[in-house]
Amino acid sequence: MANILVLGGGFAGVEAAIKLSAEGHKVQLVSNRDYLFVYPISIWIPVKKKSFYQVKIDLKLLAVKHQFIFIQDEVIAISAKQKKVSLVNQELSFEYLVVAMGMGKMPMSGLEYTHSICGKPEEAEVIKRELEKLVQQGHGKIAIGFGSNPKDPSATAVRGGPAFELLFNFSHYLKKLGLRNQFELTFFAPMKEPGKKMGDKPYKKLDLFFERYKIKIRKGQKITRFEKNAVHFEDHTQLESDLIIFIPGGSGHSVLANSDLPLTDAGFIKIDEYCQVDDFEHVYAVGDITSLTGPKWAAKQGHIAEVMAAATAYNINKHSKGKEKRKSFKAHLNIVCVMDSGDGAAFIMRKPDTEIIFPLPIIGHWMKKAWGFYYRNSKLKNIPRIPGM
Ligand SMILES: Cc1cc2nc3c(=O)[nH]c(=O)nc-3n(C[C@H](O)[C@H](O)[C@H](O)COP(=O)(O)OP(=O)(O)OC[C@H]3O[C@@H](n4cnc5c(N)ncnc54)[C@H](O)[C@@H]3O)c2cc1C
Repeated sequence: MANILVLGGGFAGVEAAIKLSAEGHKVQLVSNRDYLFVYPISIWIPVKKKSFYQVKIDLKLLAVKHQFIFIQDEVIAISAKQKKVSLVNQELSFEYLVVAMGMGKMPMSGLEYTHSICGKPEEAEVIKRELEKLVQQGHGKIAIGFGSNPKDPSATAVRGGPAFELLFNFSHYLKKLGLRNQFELTFFAPMKEPGKKMGDKPYKKLDLFFERYKIKIRKGQKITRFEKNAVHFEDHTQLESDLIIFIPGGSGHSVLANSDLPLTDAGFIKIDEYCQVDDFEHVYAVGDITSLTGPKWAAKQGHIAEVMAAATAYNINKHSKGKEKRKSFKAHLNIVCVMDSGDGAAFIMRKPDTEIIFPLPIIGHWMKKAWGFYYRNSKLKNIPRIPGM
C-alpha cells in the first residue's frame, strides 16, 4: 500500500483518488475548494436551469464514499525532488504524487471588465445576476467570446464550446421571456476560424446555429483590450456591450512557478503517454494542468482528464508492485461534446479518422441533463457506473 498525494479536486484529481483508493492505497486529496465543480453543466446557472448547489459535489462526501482522506487547503509549492508539497497550513510528504490542479488563464488588458464561465465557479452566479439586471431593464447588448494561447492550442478548443453554449442558451432564455428582439447577442473571437478544431464539418455547421439563434459574429481581429462596456480590436474598431463574457486562452497554473516540475513554454507540465512527469518516476500529472501533446486538434476536456486519471491510477498501482505493465491515454484522445442550446443540442465527435456533427433537437438537451445526473450520482455511488463512462 503506497502513500499517494493527489493535488486538486476536479474531474482529474477525484477520478485518480477514487481509482487509487479502490486499489487499497492510502490516498490524500488536497483541494482549495470543498466541492468538485461539474463545469459542463454550469452553463445553465445563468439561465436558472440549475442552481449553484446542483452543480457542485461535496468532496467530504466523496471522500467518505470512496475512502480517501480529504484535506481542504491551498497548495503553494511543490518539490518533486524532496517529495514534499507545501500547503498554506502544513507540509505533506508522499511516495507518489498526482498533480491535477487545472489551468490558469492568459493575462489580458481590461479582463476585470469581463466575466468568465470558465474561471472561479462563483463567476457563474455573477453572470446570472448581470443577465437578470438586463432582463429587468428589458433590453441590452451581450457579447460572448473566447481567446487562445498560441503556445498551447490544446488549451483553447473546449473553452470555445462553453461560449457557444452560453450564446445559444441566452438566446433561447430571452426568447422564452419574450425579449429576444430587444437584445443583441454577439459572438467574438480573434481567430479567423473559431471552432475549427472540432473539425471541418462541425465548423461549417456552426453558422447554421448562429443563424437560428440570431447571433452576430465578430471574428478574425486580435483583441487589444477590454474597457467597461467595450471590446477593442486591433483594427481600431470596438464592440459595445452591456455584458461582456470572455473565456481567455488557458495557461499554466500559477503554483507551478513554485515547483521543480518540467514545464512547456506555455507553463503546462510535461508528461509522457503514461502521465508520468518527465524525469520524476514517482510524480504524475493529469487533466488540464498538463501539456497535451498529440494531434493538432487535441483538446483539454473533462472526459480526457478522467481517461488520464484512470491510466495514472493503473500505472502507479503497477509501479508500486514492481510490475512492468503500463497504460497509455494517447489512444483515447478525441473530442466529444454535446453542445447544448437550451432547446436541443448538437453531438460533436472528432477522432483521427472521424468528424461527426448532428443536431439533436430537444432530446440533446435532455441527454446532457441526464449525463449531469449520471455523473453526480455515479460518483456518489447512488447508481452503478457504466463501464467507459
Ligand atoms: C464552462 C465549461 C464547460 C465545459 N464543458 C465540457 C464538456 O461539455 N465536456 C467536456 O469533456 N469538458 C468540458 N469542459 C472542460 C472540463 O470541465 C475540464 O477539462 C475539466 O474540468 C478539467 O478537470 P481538472 O480536474 O484537470 O481541472 P479542474 O476541474 O479545473 O479542477 C482543478 C481542481 O484543483 C483545485 N485547485 C486549483 N488550484 C489549487 C491550489 N493552489 N491548491 C489546492 N487546490 C487547487 C480546484 O479547486 C479544483 O478542485 C468544460 C469546462 C468549462 C469551464
